[in-house]
Amino acid sequence: MLETVDVGVQCIDCYEASAGAAPVAQLRALAAPLRGARVLHLNATPYGGGVAEILRSEIPLLRDLGLAADWKLITGDEAFFSVTKAMHNGLQGAGRELTAAEQETYLANATRNARLLEEQYDLIIVHDPQPLALLELHGKGAAQWIWRCHIDTSEPNPQVWGFLRPYLVGYDAAVFTLGGFVPPDFPVGRVEIIPPAIDPESPKNIELGAGLARRVLQWIGVEVDKPLVTQVSRFDPWKDPLGVIAAYRLVKAEVPDLQLALVGSMALDDPEGWDVYRQIRDAARLDPSIHLFTNLTGVGNVEVNAFQRLSDVVIQKSLREGFGLVVSETLWKGTPVVAGRAGGIPLQLQGAAGGFLVDSVEACAERTLWLLRHPDHGRALAERGRDLVRERFLLTRLIADELRLYGSLLGTPSVAAAPAAKVGLAGELRDPVCGMQLDPSTALAIEHQGRRYAFCSEACRQQFTGAPERFLRAVAAAPRSGE
Ligand code: UDP
Repeated sequence: MLETVDVGVQCIDCYEASAGAAPVAQLRALAAPLRGARVLHLNATPYGGGVAEILRSEIPLLRDLGLAADWKLITGDEAFFSVTKAMHNGLQGAGRELTAAEQETYLANATRNARLLEEQYDLIIVHDPQPLALLELHGKGAAQWIWRCHIDTSEPNPQVWGFLRPYLVGYDAAVFTLGGFVPPDFPVGRVEIIPPAIDPESPKNIELGAGLARRVLQWIGVEVDKPLVTQVSRFDPWKDPLGVIAAYRLVKAEVPDLQLALVGSMALDDPEGWDVYRQIRDAARLDPSIHLFTNLTGVGNVEVNAFQRLSDVVIQKSLREGFGLVVSETLWKGTPVVAGRAGGIPLQLQGAAGGFLVDSVEACAERTLWLLRHPDHGRALAERGRDLVRERFLLTRLIADELRLYGSLLGTPSVAAAPAAKVGLAGELRDPVCGMQLDPSTALAIEHQGRRYAFCSEACRQQFTGAPERFLRAVAAAPRSGE
């Protein structure tokens, strides 16, 4: 049997205070026809990184809504996770190809895990490339299978993509974080765009008084009366921790008592983490104002909460990114963000809300310094960012989108009549760039090659018109306007 992750208990009604009564009522309505449905989420690590973060919050809520939801893990040795990390990097566009021996390691581990999947489910949601081949190796059975991709696979390494692509053919649907992430020649007939979200009721995001937050950070060695900038992320080259240190040094020349905290968790499925950790430790060695923390030295959710609340600026200098949950987590706490223009980050910092997008170490330093010198402006920006998070990036919206997809795949009465569009949950009007549900009376619409597309904002419309072919990978099978 595959290992089941033990999660806590949570009640959907508790979300009325943070997310509002209407979204909670909507969730109840969407879940009613799905009561008793057996749903499995499958991934490779119970902690560290955005996927584990979301599943830990989502599974208890699906259960409270009446679904029989499980979260299980595939397992593997270090060799397997080295291969899957190389795959992850290759799907994000890295040049390195998979050797024949690596492909064999992947398939041997996937076959062993496929044999361990014994229970029956109505829906199986497979997260990211690590467990991707299980459908082919296990057999589809009576379940509907969804591949949930959390990374930017728009320009994958052709050899890595060529190896994985055949294992996707049997999937009933695929979900991407953004419309632009879909790889070329994608073999799954139904594609949905569903951005991730944060859990406002988790220990990482709940309200934490300033006094308690100060005590938490003081306890682990931060000087809470001195200026502090922080990056919270896995130790991964794509998150550019060395770029953060370089930017911090430029700012410190102007703000001599500045501190930098680099908070990183070691995910089970990320063996590259230790190499990056050692590089950071070496780069930071001579500077006592750089604090390096990991989950292995006791920095967990409450500490991350305190860092995101008390830092003057939070940096997320990603070079490539899936969504970048840490941005929404930080804005939710009223702290401004300086972040790399990558993946889902621009979506969270759009319309001059939340902070600044940057493309270089120098720009990162310049914007961070500006925010340190203009704290009132920074707080006002973050407040607008918090409004955007409340509207778009809370867990209640994510679960509503997923329940619509489950309902339409399982043919429940409330959504079964949806037209067979390739994108647009249950036939609703959706933005093909960010996946947001749209009000037809206010959406910005354009005609492109005889079809009508609608957008939530000018930023999404511009992204689409800049490279429509990228977004049409997801909507190619949508009906023409008037059809
Ligand atoms: N995280 C954490 N502790 C750490 C580093 C990261 O709890 O030391 C969490 C972070 O708060 C966020 C998630 O891991 O919830 C990272 O998600 P994101 O989407 O930003 O990046 P990913 O790791 O999925 O690429």
